[in-house]
Amino acid sequence: FITINNIQKAFDGQKVLKNMNLTIHKGEFITLLGPSGCGKSTLLRIAAGLVSADEGSIFIDGVDVTHVSPKERGVGMVFQSYALFPNMNVYENVAFGLKMKKIEKQQLNERVMNMIRLVGLDGKENAYPHELSGGQQQRVALARSIVVEPKVLLLDEPLSALDAQIRKNLQKLLRDIQQRLGITMILVTHDQEEAMLVSDRIFILNKGEIVQNGNPQDLYKHPATEFVARFIGSYN
Ligand code: ATP
Ligand code: MG
Repeated sequence: FITINNIQKAFDGQKVLKNMNLTIHKGEFITLLGPSGCGKSTLLRIAAGLVSADEGSIFIDGVDVTHVSPKERGVGMVFQSYALFPNMNVYENVAFGLKMKKIEKQQLNERVMNMIRLVGLDGKENAYPHELSGGQQQRVALARSIVVEPKVLLLDEPLSALDAQIRKNLQKLLRDIQQRLGITMILVTHDQEEAMLVSDRIFILNKGEIVQNGNPQDLYKHPATEFVARFIGSYN
């Protein structure tokens, strides 16, 4: 469904991504897991079209999107910082992306309210971002990017600023929404527990390369290298 072919990227002569190859199936939840600076965000930004690669190509749903603008790729993105519109309430934030789509008013209202319910924020429609906790703000960010029904949702450490309990709740929510709506998701994280919990498949990255990929159990039981073993926690 998503094919990333031989993607390479250098910044100032420094190779950040070396020959990345990934194939992701429709409806799959995959995680890019690796230490700080290994190139996770760069790869995600290239997939989103926010950064261009030096080499390689990207296909989504059979279409070569390598040179297609972020807007036309049909991908949504959620970042670590919430980036909600501060002068819009919860309802307006979630409705924002749909307004451009010329959807009939009643249908728009229904979709927005369903999404607000899905992320557990019913009753908060009229609250402004500054009146919400970090976890609630991130729920709004998720709702806003999912309500437009992207083919692919890219998530760059969306939960890492939150405390442990809220993070756990949102991990479950994310997985639940993903399975219910069948959205293909790519999550970037350096939290191996998070990766183990939510993913169908984990790609372990180190220094701009994929070291191994597999389902959480397989990686845990059969790490290909000592690096993977240490990172996934099956070796201390
Ligand atoms: P973290 O877990 O800390 O977020 P990451 O795996 O997401 O790390 P990237 O943000 O992809 O890492 O960065 C990979 C490397 O590329 C780093 O060495 C970073 O300094 C460098 N880099 C990323 N973006 C740029 C840029 N716009 N200009 C120059 N160097 C960059
Ligand atoms: Mg990053």
